[in-house]
Amino acid sequence: MAMSEPAVLTCDLTKIFGGQTAVDGLDLEVPRGSVFALLGPNGAGKTTTIKLLLNLLQPTAGEIRVLGLDAVKDSVAVRRKVGYQAETQRFYPRVRVEELFCLCRSLYPRWNTERVTRYCRIFELPPHARVGELSKGKLTLLALVLAVGPEPELLLLDEPGTGLDPLRRRQVLQLLVEEMAGGDRTIIISSHQLQDVERIADRVGFLFRGKLILSRPLEQLLGEEKKVRVLFPGSPPADLPGWPGVRRVTREGSHLLISLSGHLDEVLGRLNRCEGVAFEVLDQTLEDVFVEYAAGEEASRDVVEHD
Ligand code: ATP
Repeated sequence: MAMSEPAVLTCDLTKIFGGQTAVDGLDLEVPRGSVFALLGPNGAGKTTTIKLLLNLLQPTAGEIRVLGLDAVKDSVAVRRKVGYQAETQRFYPRVRVEELFCLCRSLYPRWNTERVTRYCRIFELPPHARVGELSKGKLTLLALVLAVGPEPELLLLDEPGTGLDPLRRRQVLQLLVEEMAGGDRTIIISSHQLQDVERIADRVGFLFRGKLILSRPLEQLLGEEKKVRVLFPGSPPADLPGWPGVRRVTREGSHLLISLSGHLDEVLGRLNRCEGVAFEVLDQTLEDVFVEYAAGEEASRDVVEHD
């Protein structure tokens, strides 16, 4: 039964620190085999969410199921099946890389020595080095190797690009996605590097102020989110902001930029019926779409605050 459950399923998950709501009624579903990117601005609640999945933090309210298990009641069993690369690394500085591997190997039911050795070679991680001697990027790589060692069914990556140069970032993410996702293996990644995410994720979730405002396959999102740059010979139709799918209308010099969520054909049909109008449809990157949603969230917050 548990095998058919999603890798992660949360219901009304809430975490409040003091008076501060970090995660706010989160209903998150991550299908098995997917590479799911959890995206959001600083302080949105990404790290808190990831820590809740591992019971490193206890929820204030709500339910969390990870790999078919209750993340709170079965936390030990969950920890054995999940690999976790934390946002910040805290290792005892005098311990050697190879000693850390030995220690971690003893903590998990499974340990893939071949993979760990191979990744160390590829990432140029010296086994005899003391952890305190490693650069920031090498510390991230060490944390990634430790996270894949136990052959996890679920890999949680919190800012895996920290300290890595662009070439290395690409190499590492490509390797992880090829070897650690698909079939029954799932990756959840939190990152501000949206170009990287666009390359590897198959689903994305946008988290703003602890709320999941969108969760969709990436291909579908990029297929639906478009901009149309329009030049109206006279005044634009007064009801333009209310047209189906229109999220925002902004001015760009003499043109208007219409941000659309779906309904492209219908909007183009309406534009075609406006006399003398010229327009072009612009594709958007994931970063463009994210910025668009962030702007929308800011605008709605301003409205609420001014009410
Ligand atoms: P970033 O992209 O900057 O890493 P994030 O999306 O991972 O941000 P979190 O670290 O989850 O965000 O923080 C969410 C909110 O919870 C923030 O307002 C943060 O200040 C608060 N918070 C996180 N951990 C704690 C804690 N231990 N005690 C009090 N508040 C906390």
